[in-house]
Amino acid sequence: MRFFRFGIFVALFVLLFCACSKHSVEQKKTVSSNSIVCTTEILEDVVAQIAGDAFEVSALIQGNMDPHSYELVKGEVEKLEQARLIFSNGLGLEHGSSLAYFLHKSEKNVVLGQKVLERSGQDFIHIDGGIDPHFWMDVSLFAQVIDPIVEQLTLLDSENELEFIQRGELLAQKFRDIDQECMLIMEQIPQHARFLVTSHDAFNYFVRRYLASGDLKWDSRVMAPQGLAPEAEISLLDIKKVCDFMHENKVHVLFSENNISEQAHRKIKEICGKNGHKARIATAPLFGDTIDKKHSQASSYFGMMLYNAHLITAELQVDMERAEQR
Ligand SMILES: [Zn+2]
Repeated sequence: MRFFRFGIFVALFVLLFCACSKHSVEQKKTVSSNSIVCTTEILEDVVAQIAGDAFEVSALIQGNMDPHSYELVKGEVEKLEQARLIFSNGLGLEHGSSLAYFLHKSEKNVVLGQKVLERSGQDFIHIDGGIDPHFWMDVSLFAQVIDPIVEQLTLLDSENELEFIQRGELLAQKFRDIDQECMLIMEQIPQHARFLVTSHDAFNYFVRRYLASGDLKWDSRVMAPQGLAPEAEISLLDIKKVCDFMHENKVHVLFSENNISEQAHRKIKEICGKNGHKARIATAPLFGDTIDKKHSQASSYFGMMLYNAHLITAELQVDMERAEQR
C-alpha cells in the first residue's frame, strides 16, 4: 500500500513538472520573440548581415511588389506589432496609406532614411519639393545606414554589441568595394553616351554617383517619365519630353524596371518612332525599388547594384556600336 501511494506521488510530481516545463517554454517563446521586420528586402538584406543569428530578420514587401504603394494585408499588423523593431526606409517611400499610418504611429519604427538625412542632409536629392527616397542607389550614401542599424541592435541586445560592430565594419568595407566596382564598370561608357532613360525616378542617385561626368550636370543625364512614384499615370506631354530628351542626346534605349509595366515604354517607343527617332526597350529590366531573391544576379543588394551597372553599360555600348555603323 505504501509503495502504491509513493507511486501516485511520483506520477503527480512528473505530471506537475511536465506542465510547468511546458508553461515556461511557452512563456519563453512569447517573451523571447526576436523578430525584426524591415519594410523592404533591400533593408532586410543589410540588417540581416549585421544581426547574424541574434535576430530573425524578415521583410514585409517581397518580390516585385511596389514599395511606394504597398498596403498591409491580413496578418501583417500582428507581424509588425510582434516585432521587437521595425526598420523602414522612410522619406516618403512607403506611402501606401495603411502601412504609412502604422509606421507613423509605431514607436518601434526606426526610419533609416531619416537617420542618414540627419547626418548627411546635403547629400540627398530634392525633387518637386520632396526628398527622393531612393538613396540606396548610391552605395556610398546607403552605407550610412550601417551605424544606426548597429546602434539599434545594440540597444536591444547589448551582449552582442561587439559582434554587431565587427559585422558592421566588415559590411562597410564591402560597401566601399561595391561602390568602387560600380564606378569602374560605368567608366567603360564615354562621357558623350552617359544618359539613362528609365521608368520612374529610382535612378537619380545612381546617375549622380556613377554616370555624371564633365560639365553636364547629373540631372541632365537622366529621364524618367513616371516621376518619383511608379503608380503615376504618364501624359502625352511626359512622352514628348522623353522623346525630345532621347533625340537631343542620341539615346536609343529605354530601360524598363522589374516591378513596373512596360506599357508606358511601348507607347514612348511608338511615338518616338513616328517622330523619326528609333527607340528600343532594353533586353532585360533594371532593378530599381526591389531585389528579387529568385533572380540569378539581383538576389541581394550588392548583386542588384552590380547587375544594374553591367546591364546599363552593355545596353549603352550597343547604342554606341550602332551609332558607329550608321
Ligand atoms: Zn521607386
